[in-house]
Amino acid sequence: MIVTRFAPSPTGFLHIGHAYAALVAASAGERFLLRIEDIDQGRARDQFVNAIFDDLAWLGLRWEMPVRMQSQHFAEYAKGLSHLQRDGLLYPCFCTRKEIAEEIARAGEAPHAASIGPDGPLYPGTCRELSEELRESRIASGASYALRLDMQKALARVTAPLIFRDHGCEHIATPEIFGDVVLARKDLPASYHLAVTMDDATQGVTLVTRGEDLFSATHVQRLLQELLALPTPDYAHHRLIVDAAGKKFSKRDGAVTLRELRAHGATPEDILRRIGAA
Ligand code: GLU
Repeated sequence: MIVTRFAPSPTGFLHIGHAYAALVAASAGERFLLRIEDIDQGRARDQFVNAIFDDLAWLGLRWEMPVRMQSQHFAEYAKGLSHLQRDGLLYPCFCTRKEIAEEIARAGEAPHAASIGPDGPLYPGTCRELSEELRESRIASGASYALRLDMQKALARVTAPLIFRDHGCEHIATPEIFGDVVLARKDLPASYHLAVTMDDATQGVTLVTRGEDLFSATHVQRLLQELLALPTPDYAHHRLIVDAAGKKFSKRDGAVTLRELRAHGATPEDILRRIGAA
């Protein structure tokens, strides 16, 4: 039984690119689930959650109930973090963005320049080197901190190649390209990678369909599956729908939303035609 999901973040109205992603997931799955990725409570809005339901129903999609709301599962993500913590794979990071940028600039002057990962320059590892005493005293003093994965230690626990399948082709994950990723932010008890990995397992998703812009994220998520003893789904990263200028649709650029198109008289069939699905 193929189980797929569409997992939008309710930080804006859905656009054509979302319609395509939702349609790919719905048509690939024998069971089709919906997950609202609202862990970032500072940016998520109820208004957008309701609009997601409304827009998807308007497009003619039907999903299984209940819808999983990530914000209701922080206790589960905390268990995942405890598991990694028990295995000694996490460390608290007290650095501010500014401190990290300064450290990277300093390293750039040294012979071994900081490397660049898919999300930008890698964390230079400043807090990885702190002594246990210093960590404890800073935590006791109320300093806020993120939790980072010690990538080298994590990889040392992995005994076999981290294989995953994308469109049936085998790939070997190389999560080290991300360096010591954040798994719990200073202001949020879970990161995108942790929540997605745990949720896909909890929801029994067997095929993750999503845009190819998230292909590199799969490297980290594959590692987390291994560390947390979770199953590995199949993947099918799909092309991104681009606008007339060849740029991907994005909330930030104020891409035309399904709402606006609908308000201007577009029908669901028009949208399907536009994304090549009708
Ligand atoms: N919530 C993510 C997004 O809206 C997608 C997560 C995923 O498919 O892994 O981009």
